[in-house]
Amino acid sequence: MFDNVGRKLQTIAVITFVIDLLGLVILGMIAIAEYDEVFGGVIAILAGVFVSPVILYLIYGFGLLVENAEEETKERKKRRANQETKMDLLKPANNKIDDNEHFDTFCIKCGNRLKNTDKFCVKCGWKVECLNKQTN
Ligand SMILES: [Zn+2]
Repeated sequence: MFDNVGRKLQTIAVITFVIDLLGLVILGMIAIAEYDEVFGGVIAILAGVFVSPVILYLIYGFGLLVENAEEETKERKKRRANQETKMDLLKPANNKIDDNEHFDTFCIKCGNRLKNTDKFCVKCGWKVECLNKQTN
């Protein structure tokens, strides 16, 4: 409902403008033709022709402002998301360096990471000694 409020405001501005203009001009013409209300009719038509555009510009302009603000917010969010993914990409690299110091082997049976000093896999109980003997 509150997505693209700026765009919606612009649409509403145009619709309001058309309704105001047509409504007031038609009203003025009816007043003159049917009720001999020349003064009132002319004022209605003038209001339709001169005031409606002002209201159109006001609402439309405000709609543009809101749209720009919305787009800026979206872009800011995107940029922040990009920065976060960049930082996430850096994290695993750091972790790997850390891990290599402490974790040397993987369990053949379940793939669990194992410390060099582990004699059994913590996860499945597989004997790590066998592997260490093979690789050493
Ligand atoms: Zn295991």
